[in-house]
Amino acid sequence: MPQIIDGKKIAQEIKDEMKIEADKLRAQGIIPCMAVILVGDDPASAVYVGGKRKDCAYVGIESRAYELPKTTAEEELLTLIAQLNEDKNVHGILVQLPLPGHMDEKKVINAISPDKDVDGFHPVNVGRLCTGVEGFVPCTPAGIVQLLHRSGIKIEGKECVVIGRSNIVGKPASLLLLRENGTVTMTHSKTENLMDITKRADIVVAAAGRPKFITKEYLKKGAVVIDVGIHRNENNKLCGDVDFEDVFEKVSAITPVPGGVGVMTRAMLMYNCISAAKREELL
Ligand code: NAP
Repeated sequence: MPQIIDGKKIAQEIKDEMKIEADKLRAQGIIPCMAVILVGDDPASAVYVGGKRKDCAYVGIESRAYELPKTTAEEELLTLIAQLNEDKNVHGILVQLPLPGHMDEKKVINAISPDKDVDGFHPVNVGRLCTGVEGFVPCTPAGIVQLLHRSGIKIEGKECVVIGRSNIVGKPASLLLLRENGTVTMTHSKTENLMDITKRADIVVAAAGRPKFITKEYLKKGAVVIDVGIHRNENNKLCGDVDFEDVFEKVSAITPVPGGVGVMTRAMLMYNCISAAKREELL
């Protein structure tokens, strides 16, 4: 019977650990604070922001909400970010993506101070991750590594295959697995003979954004499978990039969807925000 990696339980553990850290910071007069900026009225984004603010409240992080209309000029958003960069009481800044079409996402992300970039998307933090310097790591890949560690799954020396090379999942996940001394192959839509590559893997991270794409033919017996994908199937139920039922008998451990990677992303945001507030402690 494969191990079902319980993201819900692990995410709760991390949030509880962060709550203790937040209490310690408060005892020293530091109130961890995250500014959450939402531009426009995209319902999915509003739900994500609501969830993040709920987690902040649970952990004991003050969340400051900035809800700007869809028509906000880019310059206005950049001015707000500049003010928040300067505000010593704000430790983390999060701009909910996607932004309205008239805004340049790269420019906006680059405007956030790298030391407040709790999403880990700023090029300085990407560079820190590449060169092994401490910095903010994007939340979803950071969550993947926590899931593996806290489930007793060894990464060091293992053959890890990441399917996908996006800036928010595939690339940082590959770099993190490498940092953990995995032997990493990053694959993408132009990869030839994907199945031959994934079949070698001890650990497969599926982040292709294709529902139920990974079937048992892609895996070796006993592989560990981390499913990052989130989709709605034909019955409007959530499913991942992996065909869970099909691969179940072949794997040694697997993350479910929902209740696997998805819930970890928000927990790791709390981790990043507490890390940002701890830097004030060191100043
Ligand atoms: P993305 O930006 O669309 O990237 C998908 C990646 O998969 C690309 O690098 C693409 O290659 C590659 N790919 C597509 N088809 C492939 C194929 N047939 N074989 C091999 N590689 C293939 O998606 P993303 O933002 O990384 O997200 C991936 C999935 O994770 C989505 O389902 C998304 O909803 C989910 N997600 C979940 C969380 C969470 O919190 N759980 C967070 C973020 C994303 P090219 O580069 O060549 O196009």
